Amino acid sequence: LNKKIDQFSDSVIRRMTRIANKYEAINLSQGFPDFDPPEELKESLKEVAEGSIHQYSVTWGAQNFREALASKQSKFMGLDIDPEKEIVVTCGSTEAMMAAMMTVCSPGDKVVVFSPFYENYAADAILSGAEPIYVNLKPPEFNFDPKELEAALKQGVKALILCNPSNPSGKVFSRSELEIIAELVEKYDAFVITDEVYEHIVYPPYQHTYFASLPGMFKRTISCSSLSKTYSITGWRLGYLIAPAEIINGAKQIHDFLTVGAASPLQEAAVTALKFDEQYYQELEKKYEKKRDFFLKGLDEIGLKYTKPQGAYYIMVDISEFNFEDDLEFCEWMIKEVGVAAVPGSSFFKDDINHLIRFHYAKKKETLKKALARLEKLP
Ligand code: GLN
Repeated sequence: LNKKIDQFSDSVIRRMTRIANKYEAINLSQGFPDFDPPEELKESLKEVAEGSIHQYSVTWGAQNFREALASKQSKFMGLDIDPEKEIVVTCGSTEAMMAAMMTVCSPGDKVVVFSPFYENYAADAILSGAEPIYVNLKPPEFNFDPKELEAALKQGVKALILCNPSNPSGKVFSRSELEIIAELVEKYDAFVITDEVYEHIVYPPYQHTYFASLPGMFKRTISCSSLSKTYSITGWRLGYLIAPAEIINGAKQIHDFLTVGAASPLQEAAVTALKFDEQYYQELEKKYEKKRDFFLKGLDEIGLKYTKPQGAYYIMVDISEFNFEDDLEFCEWMIKEVGVAAVPGSSFFKDDINHLIRFHYAKKKETLKKALARLEKLP
């Protein structure tokens, strides 16, 4: 078999979901909602099913979808995105990230990844022939040291991966942090590949700044995101890349051979969501803020220590006070004995950090309530 397979493991996040299902635990590991998408979106899917859009769309995305997406993202990103030349629609942001990496990296290139990181990035880098170089986001604050970042970029790095708002840490990079990154990628001429799937899940007073919107940065940024989290449709697998035309031309070519295209009926149905007004996004933010605060209050009552999320819907909880060999043993025990699943934090870190576990709270209030009641039984 391909030797690259030995360089990364299967997804621990998705493995935890399988174990959680086996033991019927409440699954706060793999991050996806247990509530439905907006009713209009389900209606729109029904209508599309009755119609005649059931064959391939243009490989880089259905016209209708790209136009609606360009208009929505132009507004939020403060850019003027060309739906013809600057977008590729992909099967989730998972494909977008893989395609982005394959578009810019040649074998042997180096890619900077902040650690802790969403586990796909290392696998994406390795599969595209690149070598990941890690820069620490130190818990509990998850800040980075600009000197360490510069030392990494100095090594002739091709691209930097930026997950903002960040999974698993819940960090939202401040504008000034992003400006430091911008200065360094300009200095060392590196691309930036963003994963901004939590762009609309940010808790006040924090604010999301799109990296591509910083002065001079559009030309070197590949912005990846998806509709999964914003509209609670993780199963629809609708993601995209936004970048300047020359990069997108390469990405179109890669994407064509990876998957041909995202599901055309789902793209058509999702146009409804892309046309939602401002109020939808405000309500989404409020809804998640309420979930976060409810979950944190529960953790406080139990006496668990954590880093308060600024964005996204994950929380890193400190388990050092428990007497376990490591986070993996703790998570397996918790699934079986407590009935709640989390992801061992070590699967997100490059270094041997195993005193943290990650919960997600994209769940109905009653699910969170049940999970908290079970967590109260922790020794
Ligand atoms: N982003 C989700 C998480 O971190 C999972 C996404 C996936 O499994 N594709 O849990």
